[in-house]
Amino acid sequence: MFNLTQFPLQFDESALSPHMSSDTLKCHHGKHLAAYINNLNDLSANTKYADMSLVEIIKNSINDNNATKIFNNAAQVFNHDFFFHCLAPNGGGAIPDDVAHAFGGAEKFCDEFKLAASSVFGSGWAWVVLDVSGALKIMTTANADTPIAHGLRPVMALDVWEHAYYLDYQNRRADFIATFLEHMVNWNFVCENIK
Ligand code: MN
Repeated sequence: MFNLTQFPLQFDESALSPHMSSDTLKCHHGKHLAAYINNLNDLSANTKYADMSLVEIIKNSINDNNATKIFNNAAQVFNHDFFFHCLAPNGGGAIPDDVAHAFGGAEKFCDEFKLAASSVFGSGWAWVVLDVSGALKIMTTANADTPIAHGLRPVMALDVWEHAYYLDYQNRRADFIATFLEHMVNWNFVCENIK
């Protein structure tokens, strides 16, 4: 059984305003993430998944055709907790050298990340990951899919489901992506994931 208190926000709900409102965080963390947790608990009860860790559930359910709903909800719990850790008050600013160098410069990194995050059709996620060779890569996943199901190590995540930005940005996803990089991304957390 999982509980929302295991996945707390690392800052006050109003701390990212005006870039991300308390209304968005109240709904996104307090309702959307909570619903994924509740669904996962209900779906996995009395199954082989009931006693697994979150990561074990994801890795075991990805290839289980009878556990698609369990995978979707478990992956969304992981993705959201990871994404909320990627946000920080007074975040953003200069792209760290480790990230910039891997993509041929800060501007190239931003361009590539913005293009990837903008190109997600419908609901999904934009990521920076470490691939199996240890190289930093930008990728996207659709719906609930998550890099850890594919042997990749997540470094940075941006939720581009409409519920992540619609209250604050309506249809302007590009503005949300740019503001994430300029004012919200928690580079300390991202750099810890590269080490
Ligand atoms: Mn979300």
